[in-house]
Amino acid sequence: MSITLHWFRTDLRVTDNPGLAAAQGAGLPVVGLYIATPGQWHTHDDAPIKLDFWRRNLQALEASLKHYGIPLLCLQVDSYRDVPACFEQLLTALKVAELHCNTEYPLNERRRDEAVAVACQQLGVRMQQHVDQVLTEPASLLNKSGQLFKVFTPYARAVRERLPPSLGLQEIRIQPLTQIPALPFAKSVSALTFPNAEHAWTALWPAGEQHAKQRLNEFCQQRIGHYKVQRDFPAVEGTSTISPYLAAGVLSIRQCWQTAQAWQDGSGVFTWQNELLWHDFYKYITWHYPHVCRHQPWKSDVGHVPWRHDRHEFEQWCAGRTGIPVIDAAMKQLLQTGWMHNRLRMIAAMFLTKQLLIDWRWGERWFMQHLVDGDFAANNGGWQWSASTGTDAVPYFRIFNPVTQSQRFDREGTFIRRYLPELADLDNAAVHEPGLLRPAGYPQPLIDLAFGRARALQAFKRIQ
Ligand SMILES: Cc1cc2nc3c(=O)[nH]c(=O)nc-3n(C[C@H](O)[C@H](O)[C@H](O)COP(=O)(O)OP(=O)(O)OC[C@H]3O[C@@H](n4cnc5c(N)ncnc54)[C@H](O)[C@@H]3O)c2cc1C
Repeated sequence: MSITLHWFRTDLRVTDNPGLAAAQGAGLPVVGLYIATPGQWHTHDDAPIKLDFWRRNLQALEASLKHYGIPLLCLQVDSYRDVPACFEQLLTALKVAELHCNTEYPLNERRRDEAVAVACQQLGVRMQQHVDQVLTEPASLLNKSGQLFKVFTPYARAVRERLPPSLGLQEIRIQPLTQIPALPFAKSVSALTFPNAEHAWTALWPAGEQHAKQRLNEFCQQRIGHYKVQRDFPAVEGTSTISPYLAAGVLSIRQCWQTAQAWQDGSGVFTWQNELLWHDFYKYITWHYPHVCRHQPWKSDVGHVPWRHDRHEFEQWCAGRTGIPVIDAAMKQLLQTGWMHNRLRMIAAMFLTKQLLIDWRWGERWFMQHLVDGDFAANNGGWQWSASTGTDAVPYFRIFNPVTQSQRFDREGTFIRRYLPELADLDNAAVHEPGLLRPAGYPQPLIDLAFGRARALQAFKRIQ
């Protein structure tokens, strides 16, 4: 019996999955496939908390697919290099008519898929990729002069102009359970090699489409109206916290867009949808400028910034021991929850790359190793924005002062006190800048902020 395969990657869902829907549209029984690549995850610095989130979502996906009569076949190899051979083995053992999957944009994923397409062709199987992670396919999107977009605002405008009023989410139907022969190289989800999990992660980031939809709906019902005003205050639950679900594909970007659209709230919806467009924009950049996937700055002329590689200072930043409360609280939030508020990501990244002048690639890697929502395009884009090396990045002379940012966005010090209980007794002024009131054990500032700022300005000026 011939079957159609849908290969799940970062699209761990049934709802609005273009590849899965197209596989079913082919008319043959559908089988789902997942290929674990622990060696590649290690090379890509995927965080244990994120991998555990993938594992739990994979279990939830297996259960939902079963309801639709679709079995999930799990395989494991070490790295992407081994994936084409894995397909040769699979396509020889099963009668596969077509292989469907959703496009992933970073370079290593593209190369993997090109190699798989060749292997499929040699075995007479058609591989079809679908647009899923973006609202508009990057390859077809150019500005009015026929050039690639390099700036966010015109990009966002062009995408908005192209979007139809309703995005038409795709659904699948229940099919009779597809029977597949037992394959000696197939594994169960629980037999795949994922890193050890911490108990707290399950409660912090519950898995499954049902939960993801509920999180999205609750945000739209209760908070999107205040998003424009509240999104910058880390002590407040003002953002959606859907990023891990979007990064793992437990939600689609179209579901997010459409759910917000239904709210008709005006400025909150527009502002939130703009954030979804930033997500889109960085995928676009990753696709069209693959040199960013090779640890290179997007701007070629910033290759000569004299980045510092001071291990001690970097380790203090990583551990939340810089002596600057807002930075330390932010880094503790990352270590304790696998997530950091966007305003804090900007403040922490800019402190590392400007005041400390430490190589942005070190920070990018640390974030990736700890984020539950780690996504190459968004993380690289955020770091290159902060380091002023990226497309549409912050100008090098606009350097955030972390203390001023802290006074502005955490006025009462509520967020700082939550993650740095040792500062809880300081008053609302000292909590941002403890000075002589510094409790025993809390470190002195790693750097004089004015000195760090002047050093960064000088370093960037020299290469202009
Ligand atoms: C240095 C740095 C590193 C970052 N690394 C990542 C990362 O690895 N993964 C990631 O998903 N986001 C990353 N971001 C973007 C942003 O901080 C997070 O997406 C956001 O904090 C997630 O919280 P939320 O879901 O509550 O966002 P909301 O404010 O509710 O926004 C909704 C969604 O829009 C997208 N989004 C929002 N802001 C951005 C942005 N600036 N760039 C791209 N997409 C955005 C996210 O998918 C987010 O879930 C990074 C930003 C910076 C400055």
